[in-house]
Amino acid sequence: MNIIGTVQEMQRYSEALRNSGKRVAFVPTMGYFHDGHLSLMREARKRGDCVVVSIYVNPTQFGPSEDLDKYPRNFERDRQLAEDAGADVIFFPSNAEMYPEHYQTYVNVEEVTKNLCGLSRPGHFRGVATVCAKLFNMVKPHLAIFGKKDFQQLVTIKRMVADLNMDLEIVGMPTTREQDGLAMSSRNVYLSPEERQSALCLSRSLKKAKELFDQGERDAGRILDEITGYIEGVPSTRIDYARICSTTTMKDIDRLEDESVMALAVFVGSTRLIDNYVFGEELNIE
Ligand code: AMP
Repeated sequence: MNIIGTVQEMQRYSEALRNSGKRVAFVPTMGYFHDGHLSLMREARKRGDCVVVSIYVNPTQFGPSEDLDKYPRNFERDRQLAEDAGADVIFFPSNAEMYPEHYQTYVNVEEVTKNLCGLSRPGHFRGVATVCAKLFNMVKPHLAIFGKKDFQQLVTIKRMVADLNMDLEIVGMPTTREQDGLAMSSRNVYLSPEERQSALCLSRSLKKAKELFDQGERDAGRILDEITGYIEGVPSTRIDYARICSTTTMKDIDRLEDESVMALAVFVGSTRLIDNYVFGEELNIE
């Protein structure tokens, strides 16, 4: 396992791999690994000759009152887990490497970032798109793997890659869940035992929405009324958003005619959790 800390070393390493005909598979992360991250690494192992995992808690995607400083970190634990999942390289750059003095260039994906997390977290997707563009230029991957748990992020990155003619494939992987349905997230460690119980309202809402859809319901408002009514009755929760959107435009829709996604962001205590369900897909919740 190779640990690389500088941009120059990362670029040289990847260039050499590419020149020798090796396929570079990349998994960008903010670390503090759980099984969701590891599922992306295992997929990368299947699809590439060399698996590069980046660990970087990117300050430009956090708002001023968000959890940048307290975001959980444990490099030694992550290193071991990544190695066991088949990673060859951990790219672990410093803030000075990523955003040196005089840094001033940002990527704005205009439309698909407007709704949902774009409304609640101004500047978030500008930070995400920028750091991913930079990481792609550093790691030079043939493919990069993202989780569908961050659905709007995946749509944003796919849009950026298409619009800027970036020469790599973007792969989306299903959400890995705890046994009781809670989507795995590095932020779940913030939850108290009572909040952990309340957090199940997200996955239970997805299941409920799927059931309504499977029974033939196509009215977005009726599905959302049911879901918000349910979540509002769960202790310690506050809905940030509950919306049904087109998976192409990420705009709200009234009827579930084309491909659509229900996206939820709910504060449980002070922890903001997200989850989503693409209508018509399988849902791995008991
Ligand atoms: P993060 O470290 O939270 O930035 O996440 C790094 C990558 O892991 C992103 O592509 C996420 O979408 C993905 N990811 C996070 N949680 C999960 C999960 N529960 N299942 C699958 N992928 C996930």
